[in-house]
Amino acid sequence: MNCWHCGAELIWGGDHDVEDSEDYDIVTNLSCPKCNSYIEVYHAINDNSDYDDLTKA
Ligand SMILES: [Zn+2]
Repeated sequence: MNCWHCGAELIWGGDHDVEDSEDYDIVTNLSCPKCNSYIEVYHAINDNSDYDDLTKA
């Protein structure tokens, strides 16, 4: 995954359980070695992994 701002390859900081949300279960921390941006990616509990199947119907 590349930085939104400068396009450099991000450094993975770790995954953590989300305790205070009913919508997300995992948060991933990433940081940019070039512009020092900090990124958190929240993984939804109810993901749309079957989204493609629905749109094909
Ligand atoms: Zn960057």
